[in-house]
Amino acid sequence: MNTTRYAIGIDLGGTTIKYALISSSGEFLFEGLTPTPATEGAEAVLVALCGAADECLMAAKEKGVEVEGIGIGTPGIISPDGQSVLGGAENIEGWENVNVGARLTAHTGLFTLLGNDANLMALGETLYGAARGAEDVVFLTVGTGIGGGVLIGGRLQGGWQGRGMELGHIVLVAGGERCACGAVGCLEHYASTSALVRRYAERKGIAPEQTNGREIVARYHEGETEAIHTMEEHWEWLGQGIRSFINIFAPQKVVIGGGISEAGEFYFEGIRRHTAANMMEVCGAHTEIVAATLGNRAGSLGAAGLILQQ
Ligand SMILES: [Zn+2]
Repeated sequence: MNTTRYAIGIDLGGTTIKYALISSSGEFLFEGLTPTPATEGAEAVLVALCGAADECLMAAKEKGVEVEGIGIGTPGIISPDGQSVLGGAENIEGWENVNVGARLTAHTGLFTLLGNDANLMALGETLYGAARGAEDVVFLTVGTGIGGGVLIGGRLQGGWQGRGMELGHIVLVAGGERCACGAVGCLEHYASTSALVRRYAERKGIAPEQTNGREIVARYHEGETEAIHTMEEHWEWLGQGIRSFINIFAPQKVVIGGGISEAGEFYFEGIRRHTAANMMEVCGAHTEIVAATLGNRAGSLGAAGLILQQ
């Protein structure tokens, strides 16, 4: 008996839509990429999503496999029934109060579920990546901002109406500097890659545009004082945030993704060193801090996982 199941996983981002036909073992039978018409309004984005689903369904027909449903990862807040984007997706114009599920189901006849993009990356890494086999997981993506997701007992957590899990906006510094979210002292403002670049540029007396994360990592390895201080500070900020998550959730794995997580093992040694300082032993003794392994496929894998874990 063949027990392999199949779903379409779509990862809607501000610049591209990634879509794939994915098996329950995480195998990609087909995948594609198209630009997001992010400035053309909701209808243009819906048309693009339907086109992406059509391509996946054609591939499924060619391969003779039956598709169970469509999972879609999108920026923003998702309605509790997993059908609509309520708002909060600033990078896609008009992407507010849109019933994406109904439209995709009307177009394809398939059951459709939506999830927040960062949450679905967390689900993808848990089902198919760095946290495979774990049930209690904290996922953080460190980039321009800090996003993430939390799984408890293998299920994504979102708080009331899925409005929570803004892991980048826990308060690290009371009365601290202004964050992009409007509040002050957030983890994201101190520990994102943008913060790393900003702090390094301040130390060097240059504009942030004149450097980037990759260069700072290279200077660190060369032993440059400013780069070493900035990396140590970054690990301390990030480590303090992670320590708070560990003390609350006692996860089996903390998975870290985003471009800088590909810098190498030294990056994780730095994070572990700063996280371990002052951590409550009872909470974190069994927590492993590891690099995400799925790269830019985490979102579509998590989206398919929404359907396949049902
Ligand atoms: Zn904030």
